[in-house]
Amino acid sequence: MSRLPLKPLDEALAELLAHAQPLAGGEAVSTFDADGRVLLHDAVSPLQVPPQDNSAMDGYALRCADVAGAGAAQGAVLAVSQRIPAGSVGAALQPGTAARIFTGAPVPAGADAVVMQEDCEALADGRVRVNRLPAAGQNIRRAGEDIRLGATVLAAGTRLTPAALGLAASIGLAQLQVARRPRVALFSTGDELVMPGAVAPQDMPPGAIYNSNRFFLRALLQRLGCEVTDLGIVPDRLDATVQALREAAAGHDLILTSGGVSVGEEDHVKPAVQSLGSLDLWMIAMKPGKPFAYGRVQAEADAAGGGAHFIGLPGNPVSSLITFCVLVRPFLLRLQGVVDVAPKIVAARADFTWLKADKRREFLRVRLTPGGALELYANQGSGVLTSTVWGDGLVDNQPGQTIAPGDSVSFLPFAELL
Ligand code: AMP
Ligand code: MG
Repeated sequence: MSRLPLKPLDEALAELLAHAQPLAGGEAVSTFDADGRVLLHDAVSPLQVPPQDNSAMDGYALRCADVAGAGAAQGAVLAVSQRIPAGSVGAALQPGTAARIFTGAPVPAGADAVVMQEDCEALADGRVRVNRLPAAGQNIRRAGEDIRLGATVLAAGTRLTPAALGLAASIGLAQLQVARRPRVALFSTGDELVMPGAVAPQDMPPGAIYNSNRFFLRALLQRLGCEVTDLGIVPDRLDATVQALREAAAGHDLILTSGGVSVGEEDHVKPAVQSLGSLDLWMIAMKPGKPFAYGRVQAEADAAGGGAHFIGLPGNPVSSLITFCVLVRPFLLRLQGVVDVAPKIVAARADFTWLKADKRREFLRVRLTPGGALELYANQGSGVLTSTVWGDGLVDNQPGQTIAPGDSVSFLPFAELL
């Protein structure tokens, strides 16, 4: 059998992203429901936040000049001329007086500092003794210090986090225009696969294994904002594979499969996709990973839509998970209009030895120690899913690179990928 040349990962990713034109159309959703969605337009602030100078403390608003002369020993005593709780607006501060004020309340005109209540003493006659001399501006949150009028607080193409929803709400946005959810059809191939729950562990026939890929792929897709049509397990037969693909091509943006994508006799995905559209099978210079396919599947002539993207992942669970994270994730983000789809990679210190430098770029499962270094999971096999739950992320190790304790390595936290 002829061997395909290995394609460098960066090249494969660039080629894949070149196919990922952002999906047409979007929808308005409540800001409550926009977590994880991708913003279509810049969010521009129609107001300044905070809207006016306000108090950062419960205490007394005053003029610094009114207390400046007081000796530290006895403090300055001021009449309390008004009370301003949060949500109400006081009058201009009369000279020589203080205003009782609470956190978030607007600072009255004329006041130039707030002294926290812990540094004040309410006297029996209703006046207040100020025991600590304030600096001008102390404990005042300035109008517009968070957001200026007209500032872009969230750029188009931002994937919304819970914090981003709060920020959008802080400028009054109850609804957000977001990218449409990619519609993804998912299926697993493999006659050895059995669904958990269908057969009890003690009754599993020889050669059978549980379908694990289906579970993490579905969850990963959902976390990336996709609407998933789960087509279950497709048998290792060409006709069944062709039929599943043909049906899925209508009404989906992407068909994602796992397994059957190598070039063995039982691998039917490749010829099935070729018979319905076009396929590029790549042997990517990455480990775990290697076989990965991208193509297009045409829908039947009478079906709506012009067909779907196709991505075939390797069957080995760790390979499937990692190729998803490194290749499919950026693809799906780009379909939703995210500009910067690369995960953040940070430098970290290895606390392990790695002598088996591979000619492929390798993604090692590692865990952060309390001391901030990385330790290695002992079994780096492509079927060892345990490593992915034990680990906090991956070391992205360049081809031919050995690692010694103390070396600086590239760390890709799972938090950036999942
Ligand atoms: P394949 O890519 O189909 O040659 O599969 C490679 C390996 O991954 C084989 O050991 C399969 O049994 C295993 N495998 C394939 N699909 C799955 C799946 N959905 N869940 C768990 N293991 C799988
Ligand atoms: Mg298979």
